[in-house]
Amino acid sequence: MLLVCSNRCGGRLFRALFAEVDVDASGEYQDHRVTQPSYVCLNCGAPALDLGEVPAEMEAEAREDERTAAVTADILCPVCETMVQLDANMECPNCGSPLEVG
Ligand SMILES: [Zn+2]
Ligand SMILES: [Zn+2]
Repeated sequence: MLLVCSNRCGGRLFRALFAEVDVDASGEYQDHRVTQPSYVCLNCGAPALDLGEVPAEMEAEAREDERTAAVTADILCPVCETMVQLDANMECPNCGSPLEVG
């Protein structure tokens, strides 16, 4: 986890919201559980962002892009009349003509 203020105020302290804190009979802190990860900057009160989660999200998006790019179709090129596999550029790999799917 790497928290930063969404306001970029440079604040280094954050307060966890929605955290359940366990205390003993005398009110002594025992443990806590974050029921919903959410933090605010103690300096300016803006919501904090967890930069530690961003790379994972970007990775998931990149995987999504790869899946989309992998979708190809076999079509007959109207120019060179060759059965070709349509690539991401929407061009005939054989003669370079622009192709349209169905
Ligand atoms: Zn701040
Ligand atoms: Zn062609």
